[in-house]
Amino acid sequence: MRIGRHIPTGSQPGQALQRAKAIGCEAVQVFVTNPRGWAVPATDPRRETVFRAATEELGLGPVVVHATYLINLASPRDDFFARSTDLLRATLERAGRHGASDVVVHIGSHMGSGVETGLGRLAEGVRRVLDDAQPGPRLLLENDVGAGGEIGNRFEHLADVLAAAPDHRARLGVCIDTAHLWGAGFDIGTREGAENVLMDIDRVIGLDRVRVVHLNDTSVALGSHRDIHARVGEGIIGQEGLATLLRAPGLAHTAVILETPIREETPGKSDWAHETAHLRRVLALAGRPVATDAPDEPNPAGDADTDAPRARTRAPRTKVGVSR
Ligand SMILES: [Zn+2]
Ligand SMILES: [Zn+2]
Repeated sequence: MRIGRHIPTGSQPGQALQRAKAIGCEAVQVFVTNPRGWAVPATDPRRETVFRAATEELGLGPVVVHATYLINLASPRDDFFARSTDLLRATLERAGRHGASDVVVHIGSHMGSGVETGLGRLAEGVRRVLDDAQPGPRLLLENDVGAGGEIGNRFEHLADVLAAAPDHRARLGVCIDTAHLWGAGFDIGTREGAENVLMDIDRVIGLDRVRVVHLNDTSVALGSHRDIHARVGEGIIGQEGLATLLRAPGLAHTAVILETPIREETPGKSDWAHETAHLRRVLALAGRPVATDAPDEPNPAGDADTDAPRARTRAPRTKVGVSR
């Protein structure tokens, strides 16, 4: 299991990856297109070379790419469906050039056409994207909280789509987001609850198809069908349950990605110390030996952001398995 977080790369991918390493990431997730736009930016081979060289040099991996939020392969509208397949295909190519192993896509919404129609459309979209794709990263469908016209809040939905693309077994998998599980009504707050959910996933989907875990806490109630991310330990999901997932042998092959915004000390100034403590809390929950003093943190020269990490905070001691 490799643990890391989503990292905004901006115009300085090399520096962003150095920062990821400095705050304790082993793996990273990035965007390679505008997360809220349809346009695919022009290819930038120099940036891709810098990105790949930095991940190799820093030993960061796997590299996971999150696709644009607008993509909706389950849409009943032909124009949205076509744009979605085009952009997802382009994202897979671009992710491959960044050295990524996986591309995570939201499962989408049936927009009122019904769960069955939406799932059929989604399966067709996945097949179209992968039929034409050059060898490259896997495509991972992310579970959803199941609000309104959305699908993907039941493991059976994900399993149906995987089953509809048997030719792409090696290339198609699943990303499980813990805040989305909670929102969908799966109680993963205790050891017993987390173990039951893992058994369900294994029975319906197969844990070997889970390649990425989005490890997010949340502030909203179990089964609320709302998608709000909180840092681990700052939300209401019991840490005992999250620790159970982090220590599950069946998930040992996955990349675990934290997906919360980076707190700001003051507007525009990222609080890297808080994020360092966050990663350490998660590493401790996973049972890793965690140093009590911050490692020496590189201070990238010419950093345009002026928000270099503040060193030397102690990670809070985390208790596991005592909250029942
Ligand atoms: Zn997620
Ligand atoms: Zn979410």
